[in-house]
Amino acid sequence: MIHDFTYLKPSSLQEALSMLAEHKDECKVICGGQSLLIIMRQGLLVTDYLVDIKHIKELDYIQFDAKAGLKIGATTTHHIIETSDVIKKNYPVLAAMENKLASIQVRNWGTIGGNLAHADPAGDPGPVLVALNANIKVGGAQGDRTMALEDFFVDFFETALEEGEIVLEVQVPTPEAKTGAAYQKFNLLESDQGMVAAAAAVTLNGGGTCKDVRVVLGNAGSKPIRVKKIEELLTGKGYNEGLFAEAGTIASEDCEPVSDIHASEEHRRHLLGVLTKRMLKQAWEQAKG
Ligand SMILES: Cc1cc2nc3c(=O)[nH]c(=O)nc-3n(C[C@H](O)[C@H](O)[C@H](O)COP(=O)(O)OP(=O)(O)OC[C@H]3O[C@@H](n4cnc5c(N)ncnc54)[C@H](O)[C@@H]3O)c2cc1C
Repeated sequence: MIHDFTYLKPSSLQEALSMLAEHKDECKVICGGQSLLIIMRQGLLVTDYLVDIKHIKELDYIQFDAKAGLKIGATTTHHIIETSDVIKKNYPVLAAMENKLASIQVRNWGTIGGNLAHADPAGDPGPVLVALNANIKVGGAQGDRTMALEDFFVDFFETALEEGEIVLEVQVPTPEAKTGAAYQKFNLLESDQGMVAAAAAVTLNGGGTCKDVRVVLGNAGSKPIRVKKIEELLTGKGYNEGLFAEAGTIASEDCEPVSDIHASEEHRRHLLGVLTKRMLKQAWEQAKG
């Protein structure tokens, strides 16, 4: 049962921030409610006030400029991202990931800001956006600040958001020429959260060696894990199946997956190795093409 609360519906970002500043830790932001309402119904979260930001138009946008990159407002839904022409063209891995996130009902109502703020280690957008080197802009009554998305995730369901702050925008740089990116989650139901997941982004030099690479694991610990040892292993090297296999081994070791009813820790480590190798190959092939 959901405990009683007062529902507040600000008509602007400014008003929402004032409400959050006034009610401090007695209030919580709600956007699509796809995650929040579940934990409220389970009694895991009790709050006196809910500040509904879903209808704040100034947070609902997708902007792209080849120099400035991509900006996605926090209340943009997964479905709008999935079907955006500019995202499909310039960040196909992002659109493809969104297409496999939950059901169409959840994608129609759940938002990118809500997904990232919820910080579920099994969330799909986190690993892909960290692999794409995204930043996140957050803001409160005292002003805005921007940080690497990688630093935004702190622990299981915990972020760097301070009291009274909300997620405003996700920023993704324009991929360099000769960049490829791939993401896959392993799940039993097509549109469910992954038991584990891996994202890879590869940028090649003119000669075909690796200029830059990022591998980010999902549901492999308390937050998306960037495997820097793989970056060190592959940077400067050419396409090499043996190195991809080595990278897979590193990924399966350099993580902290849990055992639960869905899979054992050992099985998760195995899957992370397989997915890492596969995503690296896919991203590399794309970068070449
Ligand atoms: C059946 C089902 C299947 C799902 N499958 C997947 C899946 O396969 N992959 C996946 O990644 N996710 C999955 N999800 C999770 C879903 O993507 C998220 O629930 C959704 O994106 C959260 O967005 P929301 O707007 O509904 O957030 P809400 O539920 O409204 O809020 C979630 C949390 O974020 C906070 N919050 C919301 N917006 C902001 C903001 N702008 N600033 C600060 N805090 C904010 C809230 O206070 C709350 O703590 C699934 C959910 C369901 C119900």
